[in-house]
Amino acid sequence: MQSFEYRQAKSLDLAVQNAGQTTRFIAGGTTLVDLMKLNVERPASIIDIHGLPLDRIETTSEGGLRIGALVRNSDLAWNEEVKQRYPVLSEALLSGASPQLRNMATTGGNLLQRTRCYYFRDTNYKCNKREPGSGCSAIDGHHRIHAILGTSEHCIATHPSDMAVAMMALEATVHTRGAKGERNIALNDFYLVPGTTPEKENVLEPGELITAVTLPKLPPGTKSHYLKLRDRASYEFALASAAVVIQTHGGKVQFVRVALGGVGTKPWRSREAEQELHGREANERTFRAAAEAALKPAKPLRDNAFKVELAKRVLVRALQTATQTA
Ligand code: SF4
Repeated sequence: MQSFEYRQAKSLDLAVQNAGQTTRFIAGGTTLVDLMKLNVERPASIIDIHGLPLDRIETTSEGGLRIGALVRNSDLAWNEEVKQRYPVLSEALLSGASPQLRNMATTGGNLLQRTRCYYFRDTNYKCNKREPGSGCSAIDGHHRIHAILGTSEHCIATHPSDMAVAMMALEATVHTRGAKGERNIALNDFYLVPGTTPEKENVLEPGELITAVTLPKLPPGTKSHYLKLRDRASYEFALASAAVVIQTHGGKVQFVRVALGGVGTKPWRSREAEQELHGREANERTFRAAAEAALKPAKPLRDNAFKVELAKRVLVRALQTATQTA
């Protein structure tokens, strides 16, 4: 591990003022410390923000929910408001990692999780995300766990977060503080697809800090559900997952948001699926048509083609469970 300067943040303002181009903020440390040990992350300085007052969950004046960036994943998952009003978020959080990790990991850190691509985490291999321009070892290598949506010839790595997939379906907004002031960024605009610059995963500027995430109030009677399929029952990343937020009236879909996990280079909002569902009968035939539309843009490779059908089935099942149709 490369040596680095360590400082504890005395205030939010000072944390942002003291952050330089090669500074990383640390809170739970469940991703950053691992990657520093592997020499994948090599920050010159670290600012420890875990003592900042960003750990509250509050109802907003518009009836939504504001979640501080330092709210622990377990506290968020078991929060009564979240369980009652946004079950998709609670289910996604509880499907991720292990209880010990959820007790440490924070909301802001979860959004910034780095990919689990084997080659990204092993400095013996070429990886455009870790070392721009070096090549991608996954495209012709082992890519069973890799993405089929949003990929490029430069990177096919999946985004690993479950929480972010649920937040994508909930149309969350990310709030940040940086040298240029505060920003409110729709989560769908926060993440970037790899294109020619896979090292750039989101729109954060160097030294810009996530302070909170807000969820909008959902229409009355809205149901939601998160379903995750993986190689083993716990402590495993998604092969395919679906977050659905849906309201039906008279058997027809009135309001719906769909996001997929484990298959995209970012938490994947599927407007194609939403268009297919809106105004239609909430039944298996409609759900299957939505799944076909969601996966139409997929570009599978040799070893991950199975994810196309898997993702379709996980979406259909998630919609059935949310609407309780057989
Ligand atoms: Fe690196 Fe992305 Fe290729 Fe993995 S898929 S080796 S993260 S460039």
